[in-house]
Amino acid sequence: MRIILLGPPGCGKGTQSKRLEVAKGLLQLSTGDMLRAAAEAGSELGLKAKAIMDGGNLVADEVVVAIIGERLDQLDPDQGIVLDGFPRNVAQAEALDNLLKSRGQNLDAVIELKVDDEALVKRVTGRFKCDTCGQGYHDEFEQPQVSGVCDKCGGTSFSRRKDDTAETVLNRLEVYYGETRPVIAYYGEKGILSSVDGMADIDEVTKQINEVLEAN
Ligand code: ADP
Ligand code: ADP
Ligand code: ZN
Repeated sequence: MRIILLGPPGCGKGTQSKRLEVAKGLLQLSTGDMLRAAAEAGSELGLKAKAIMDGGNLVADEVVVAIIGERLDQLDPDQGIVLDGFPRNVAQAEALDNLLKSRGQNLDAVIELKVDDEALVKRVTGRFKCDTCGQGYHDEFEQPQVSGVCDKCGGTSFSRRKDDTAETVLNRLEVYYGETRPVIAYYGEKGILSSVDGMADIDEVTKQINEVLEAN
């Protein structure tokens, strides 16, 4: 199964992708995570990307398409995937079509998570994650069971993203509406788009996503 989770920053793509990894054996391919890893590694490409990401703008299509292409090359062709944060504009969606076509593969579903802007700002500014295992949390909506200790791995070190500020998220939303929202229409025309209510609580969103995948 190859699917895309689509939606604005903070809508729950990462949270739900991680759950799909566990429940369905899919592999999460997050271009944001890949770019942050490149930035941390300090490569020239990574540092260039970091400056763009910190401002909440999009990294060049050639860069992200190449990263995704390389990752697909490394995978067993039967490995199911959930794309998180890619494609982010119509040019990337077309490039993905070509990447999959050249491998004789296709997309099974594209699921849009719908969330109000006000809720998105709250979600993004309250987000943090475990430095050890990457598990995501939220100050209000998804706290660790024991404060300061990761539920998943027991880690005690957490961090916040530099671009998760109230100021940067407004630019990221603008970029989303200008560049990424047309991707929804792109997949709508192909007849593979489903929408779920991303305002619901995390378990309910998981349930709705499962219903879409089971109907496929
Ligand atoms: P994205 O990957 O789309 O940017 P995340 O999955 O990182 O979004 O979610 C953003 C923040 O909101 C995280 O802190 C997460 O814990 C929280 N969150 C995710 N889904 C929900 C939900 N349905 N209700 C409330 N908070 C949520
Ligand atoms: P979120 O889901 O909260 O928007 P991501 O981790 O997906 O965050 O993306 C963080 C940043 O990484 C984006 O603001 C952008 O600068 C860069 N980025 C991630 N994916 C892409 C992509 N497909 N194309 C261009 N830039 C990307
Ligand atoms: Zn952890």
